[in-house]
Amino acid sequence: MNYQRILENIGQQVQREFGKGKVADYIPALARVPPKKFGITVATVEGDEFRFGDSEEPFSIQSISKVFALSLALKLEGAKLWTRVGREPSGNPYNSLVQLEKERGIPRNPFINAGALVTTDTVVSYDQNAGRTMLEYVRHLSQNPAVQYDEEVAMSEKEYGHLNFAMSYFLKSHGNLRCNVEDVLDVYFHQCALAMSCTDTARAFLHLANRGTSPISGEKLVPARRAKRINAVMLTCGLYDAVGNFAYRVGIPAKSGVGGGIVGVIPGVLSICVWSPELDAIGNSRVGAKVLELFTTKTKLSVF
Ligand code: GLN
Repeated sequence: MNYQRILENIGQQVQREFGKGKVADYIPALARVPPKKFGITVATVEGDEFRFGDSEEPFSIQSISKVFALSLALKLEGAKLWTRVGREPSGNPYNSLVQLEKERGIPRNPFINAGALVTTDTVVSYDQNAGRTMLEYVRHLSQNPAVQYDEEVAMSEKEYGHLNFAMSYFLKSHGNLRCNVEDVLDVYFHQCALAMSCTDTARAFLHLANRGTSPISGEKLVPARRAKRINAVMLTCGLYDAVGNFAYRVGIPAKSGVGGGIVGVIPGVLSICVWSPELDAIGNSRVGAKVLELFTTKTKLSVF
């Protein structure tokens, strides 16, 4: 399929969508990102890549990192992880405290903040160098040793992270955080601050389109069973409380972040990452969701 033509076509078609959303402004480093930044990368299981616009420019992946934390936590803890975090859509904002209180400190899923704090805590509980391990893992997945934490973003996540502190202490009071709150949050704030391009991100997710194995190196990065499960959780929980509408419009497992990135997986075919920083009211990239909707429509590729 001529994905390049399709991307260019979509790039033109979404021009009128710019200016309607709002760049994340809860920390200054994100508030200054130019709203019109726009990149797309498609990586296929055949090893081809197709790029459009600002596809090579690193952006703050934010909640997309929750997939890496889940993958590492499952590797370390196995199915026991699911006693500490659920796998149902939340139907609530990603940083809701109310739900966590009602459900006695068991987060609904690993892709809302509370759930990611549990997966990150799991990783930290096995590994004193969890921050380093996470970075090396992501570098390996994206085949880019230059991937870095943006320290400025990580510092402001901490400075403005009161709700995440509150959530962590709440988890701790329910016995659902093993490690020290500060240690868990340090890793959590750093993983949110991973700076990756669309190409880095599409590559890092490509194994999930290929039953867990990198189609490039042939390395089994996660067992096929786990790839299936991670994709399933992305499909049902990857876009916070907009996940139903996204499945309806787009129809693929995906994960978004408030930096404006959305990465999607079409099993057996490809991974795709879009970056456009203007968000909708729920915190998902407006143009990003539109691009993915047009992509699955034009290519007739979705999981349904
Ligand atoms: N750093 C953000 C937070 O913890 C990540 C949220 C997101 O991307 N949805 O609140």
